[in-house]
Amino acid sequence: MIYPWQQIQWQIVSQQIHTGRLAHAMLLTGVAGMGKLHFANQLAATVLCSNNSDQGACGQCHSCKLFAGESHPDHTLIAPDEAGKQIKIEQVRSLKDKQELTPTVSKWKTVIVNPADSMNISSNNSLLKLLEEPQDNTLIILISAYPEKLPITIISRCQQLVFSLTDNNTALQYIQNLGLSADQDNIERLLKLAKSAPLKVIELLESDVIQQVQAIEADFEMVLKGQGNPVQMAQNWQKYDLQLCFNHLQTLIQQRLVNLKDTLHSQQAEHYWYIYDCIVKSIKLTSLSNNINKILLIEQFIVSVMDKNWNQKTIID
Ligand SMILES: [Zn+2]
Repeated sequence: MIYPWQQIQWQIVSQQIHTGRLAHAMLLTGVAGMGKLHFANQLAATVLCSNNSDQGACGQCHSCKLFAGESHPDHTLIAPDEAGKQIKIEQVRSLKDKQELTPTVSKWKTVIVNPADSMNISSNNSLLKLLEEPQDNTLIILISAYPEKLPITIISRCQQLVFSLTDNNTALQYIQNLGLSADQDNIERLLKLAKSAPLKVIELLESDVIQQVQAIEADFEMVLKGQGNPVQMAQNWQKYDLQLCFNHLQTLIQQRLVNLKDTLHSQQAEHYWYIYDCIVKSIKLTSLSNNINKILLIEQFIVSVMDKNWNQKTIID
């Protein structure tokens, strides 16, 4: 079944399925750890199932068994061969050949592209052609945590479903119900880091990220005092998840700004805003490319933050 925070999105697609108004293409967006792939699989299985209901796929029919065994002939998953790599043009082209065949087990054909933002220009163009000539009874589901990387021509041909959580309660409750041995403070800390994505928090709880966060906090404290060693810190930080690292720094500096609220125009506040801009710029750089030079990016960030002439600089992005 779907996760508790996906109910509204499920109602939307479920209604579309049962009124015969399902979109030809969907784009599922939201930060990592919201269970987008899980939702896409549930949706595809339901569309393919010969005995589906409002609750989803029946789980019992021939189609459902094939889907669960990852061998459904009418379903295709397109993903990079390795995490972080690109989806190749041949993979999208093979889809076109498959599209022309009639479904064999189900009445529908389904495709999941995950992550859709790992397609290069030629893969995008190839997919666009498919989206421009939608086939009957075909559902293409694109998944992306970074939809800003997708061409607008693709986005505009998809029905978009956004997965987000603005309050922590749903996530907190879900995680606590799993009975994981973590105290509430740590879970809440990780929820901030993971932008409230529950599955990301669970992944982080099983990693050493709490220690990473503490190390980053200590280093950043040094940087703010102008005592950091950019080369040494870049060596340490490049082992970390940079997105998380910068997200955490953003939270830290936001907290400092909140604490300063009565002196918004003080030099201290302006300095924090300058650092905030440096962080935002670094977050943008890490999210826009898969092939960034991590060490260089971290060094540049630390050097910018420690720059004594910060107030004469403008952040260009
Ligand atoms: Zn079924």
